[in-house]
Amino acid sequence: MTTWIALAALLLVSTVTAVAADPSPMQARERTSAGDLLIDPINHSALHFEFGGKQFYVDPAGTANWASMPKADAIFITHEHRDHLDPQTISTIRKAGTVIIASAPAGKAAGFGDLIKPGETKQVLGITVEAIPAYNVSADRLKFHPKERGDVGYLFTFGGKRVYVAGDTEGTPEMRALKNIDIAFIPINLPYTMPPAEAAAAVRAFKPKVLYPYHQGKSDPAEMKKLLADSPEIEVRVLPLP
Ligand code: ZN
Ligand code: ZN
Repeated sequence: MTTWIALAALLLVSTVTAVAADPSPMQARERTSAGDLLIDPINHSALHFEFGGKQFYVDPAGTANWASMPKADAIFITHEHRDHLDPQTISTIRKAGTVIIASAPAGKAAGFGDLIKPGETKQVLGITVEAIPAYNVSADRLKFHPKERGDVGYLFTFGGKRVYVAGDTEGTPEMRALKNIDIAFIPINLPYTMPPAEAAAAVRAFKPKVLYPYHQGKSDPAEMKKLLADSPEIEVRVLPLP
C-alpha cells in the first residue's frame, strides 16, 4: 500500500515537472540581498530581467517572440538606433503604467517623457539605475555614437547586485573607472562598437565578476574567453545570442 502511494506521488511529481516550461538555456539566476534576479538575454541587444516580481527590459528590439513575453513594468532605452529602439516592440510588451526611461534623443524621437542623461541616477520600482555615458572614442567610429548625443548604458542595482549594461560604446574612461560590478554586458562588434581585444582591455580595467559579451555582430564571443584567460577572476559567459 505504502509503495503504491509512493509510486503515485512519484508519478504526480514527474507529471508536474514535465508540464513546467523549460527555462531558456541562456537564462541565469543570481542571488541578491532581496531575492533572486533572473537574467534573461533575448538577442544581441535586448535583455530582460525579473526581480522582485517585476519585469525590466533593456532595448527591447529585434527578433524575438515578444508577444509571449511577460509585460514590462519598466523599459530602458540606451539610444536611438533601430536595434535598440523599436516603438512597435515597445507597444507589444508595454501595459498601462509601464515606466519607460530613455536617453534624451531617443526618448524625444519616440515621444517618451522620462529622459535620462549620462551620469544621472534614478530610482525605478525599487531599483537604482545610473546612466553611464556610451560613446565611440576611435577616430574612424566617432560618427556612430558621438559623445555629445548623450547615449547611455545602464548600471542597475538589484538588491545589492550591480549589473552594468553598456549599450553601444567603446572602452571609455567612465567604463574603465567603474567599481564593484557584479555582472557586465559589453558589446564587441565592429564597426559600431569595439573589437574583442579592445573590449577585453577595458574589462581588465574594471574587473566585473561575470562578463557577458553581447552585441556581437560578426565577432566571436568565445574570443573574449580566450583573451581573458589571464584574468580567471572574471567569469565569461559565452552565449549564442541571435
Ligand atoms: Zn548604436
Ligand atoms: Zn547597436
